[in-house]
Amino acid sequence: MTQVIVCPGCGAKNRIPADKGHLTPKCGRCRQSLAGEPRSGLVNPLTDTQFQRLVEQSVLPVMVDLYSPTCGPCHTLAPVIETLAREYGGRLLVFKLDTTSQQMTAARFRIRGVPTLLFFKAGQLVDQVVGAVPRAEIEQRIVTLLS
Ligand SMILES: [Zn+2]
Repeated sequence: MTQVIVCPGCGAKNRIPADKGHLTPKCGRCRQSLAGEPRSGLVNPLTDTQFQRLVEQSVLPVMVDLYSPTCGPCHTLAPVIETLAREYGGRLLVFKLDTTSQQMTAARFRIRGVPTLLFFKAGQLVDQVVGAVPRAEIEQRIVTLLS
């Protein structure tokens, strides 16, 4: 499995082979350190303070899974989100946001329940899904997002 990190300095898409995923990656174009940058191909944890830079300024389309640690349907959905993140690695950036500790984002988007999936393209909220819906339903939204 290949992971992709978009360089925040120059915008280059860096492919990180899975066997080198543990190393501290650097941008192949400008040599900037990519440590701590979100990886396409994985589900990345997200905080309220990171939201603007990592979601609204993302070069890749973004899906955010808003969840709560104590919510059963959220646990059901989590492995589905992980699988989709892997399948769409290189094309989609996937985050998870814990609404119990990161409440600003949930309030801003008027999230009424978890799990809720938010879809962003070019910094704009373009779609959302509420509840642990079937994988095919989420995949359809992703396909639309990437089209
Ligand atoms: Zn770079």
